[in-house]
Amino acid sequence: MRTRIQDEFTNLPISRQRKYQLRMQRDCRCTECGEAAVQGSRCLKHLVKARERQRKKRGLKRRYFGTLSYKLEAVS
Ligand SMILES: [Zn+2]
Repeated sequence: MRTRIQDEFTNLPISRQRKYQLRMQRDCRCTECGEAAVQGSRCLKHLVKARERQRKKRGLKRRYFGTLSYKLEAVS
């Protein structure tokens, strides 16, 4: 049997996925793929994905080009 990860999240009454997200956040990594996060809690790829997902959900028509994820997209 493999040793399980023991840290401050191990015994919390939350889902395994949530613990993974908390660990990623603690280590400044993307909460979805584990890549180094640009800012907040996601890498650029998932920052954009999350943005587009929210647009769809909220039915937004405007794009806020001053937003971080657009700026980062422009440079990369
Ligand atoms: Zn990611």
